[in-house]
Amino acid sequence: MSKPVILTGLRANNDLHLGNYLGALLPMVDMANKQAGEHQINLFVPDLHSFTTPIDHSKLYQQSIDNVKVFVATGLHIGHENVHIYRQSFIPAHSELAIILNSFVGVGEMERMTQYKEKIASSVEKEREFAKHLEELFRKNINENNEVNDAVERMTQYKKRIKINEKKYLSQQKYMQSLSDIVLETEKGDIFNIEVKSKKDIGPSVGLFDYPVLMAADILLYGASYVPVGDDQTQHLEFTRNIAERMNKKFGELFVVPNPVAEQHKFFGKDQGLRIRDLLDPNKKMSKSDDTGKGVIFLSDKPEEAAKKVMSATTDSLNKIALDFEKQPGVSNLLQIHALLSGETLDAVTKHHGGETNYSDLKKEVAEQVKEFLNDFQAKLSAVNEHEVIKKLEASEAEMNRQANETLAKVQKAVGLRK
Ligand code: ATP
Ligand code: MG
Repeated sequence: MSKPVILTGLRANNDLHLGNYLGALLPMVDMANKQAGEHQINLFVPDLHSFTTPIDHSKLYQQSIDNVKVFVATGLHIGHENVHIYRQSFIPAHSELAIILNSFVGVGEMERMTQYKEKIASSVEKEREFAKHLEELFRKNINENNEVNDAVERMTQYKKRIKINEKKYLSQQKYMQSLSDIVLETEKGDIFNIEVKSKKDIGPSVGLFDYPVLMAADILLYGASYVPVGDDQTQHLEFTRNIAERMNKKFGELFVVPNPVAEQHKFFGKDQGLRIRDLLDPNKKMSKSDDTGKGVIFLSDKPEEAAKKVMSATTDSLNKIALDFEKQPGVSNLLQIHALLSGETLDAVTKHHGGETNYSDLKKEVAEQVKEFLNDFQAKLSAVNEHEVIKKLEASEAEMNRQANETLAKVQKAVGLRK
């Protein structure tokens, strides 16, 4: 019998930070190395998923290879025969299955996906800022011009409408269309020199809307039972289970239904909510989309610079070292980083620094550790043999095409595309 499949996507690149490394990369690599005996491990680069929102396409190809290199530098054993590493778009069955599944998924189902709703909301927010900016320009520039005042009035009306329907993409699109019409109308006589963004910007893409279906195809093609996902993806996993059950009911046993989320958590040991905090603002987590990056240790930071960031970490004025994320988040964050990088327990590290009445020793130790860690990681990354990574990708892609095509053929037959 074939081994149960564990499947996970590798969305990573060099801009990752220490939080991503400790909270995601390291556990994933550990899992893959440990489970490879009893399971088939599918690690794939979701390259088709990477432009559901706009990206720099000239970088995508190399980025996919670099993603794998980051995982190898973290310790992933690519030599293991049960570990398959592949690029999604190199297995055309992913796209084909997604197209077939599309016709068995309701538009309403996709509209209910939280992640999609959140993306829409944030894009509406951006458009609203743009509208505000335009309105200010109108008001500032020509008050006497009735034509323009009329346009402002109309815009205010549209704005009311968007407020009511702000979650509905269609009205957002109409709203933007109207705005650009107004701008074009009032651009007569070169009064303004405004770039009309909405003419170029398509808003949220169908790719983004449909992404959970592609994700379901990614999972179902290989009969994966275990799919470690973060909280933001549990709804998509539930959807995958639903569509698998729906298809099985309609066409007979086509797909292995992945385990329910609760069982996934039991199997992987639900991440203990590890959250490395931002060094400057320890009340929030370290994030790659942080504006300044001053409190973030990036894996690509120069080790000396990163050490400086640790030395200027925000602490408190209590002058005692204790593990208390509520009252002393900065100090506790440093203790946590210390423990994770040294492999000691949090308890041991806290005891070790227990009697100290200032934070400089702790900071110095953590700064030194971070410096060593980055030196080591960056050396490992530059030593990863790209040729070997590509060879592994190609070998896995051949095997995965074989496995995926088997499932796809079953589905094609079931829906009447093949005999
Ligand atoms: P963004 O700001 O773009 O959301 P991010 O830094 O939050 O980026 P994600 O790409 O959202 O990173 O998450 C990648 C993985 O890293 C996820 O598994 C997430 O749980 C984990 N992760 C993100 N930030 C931290 C953190 N500060 N500490 C521990 N794990 C983290
Ligand atoms: Mg995030």
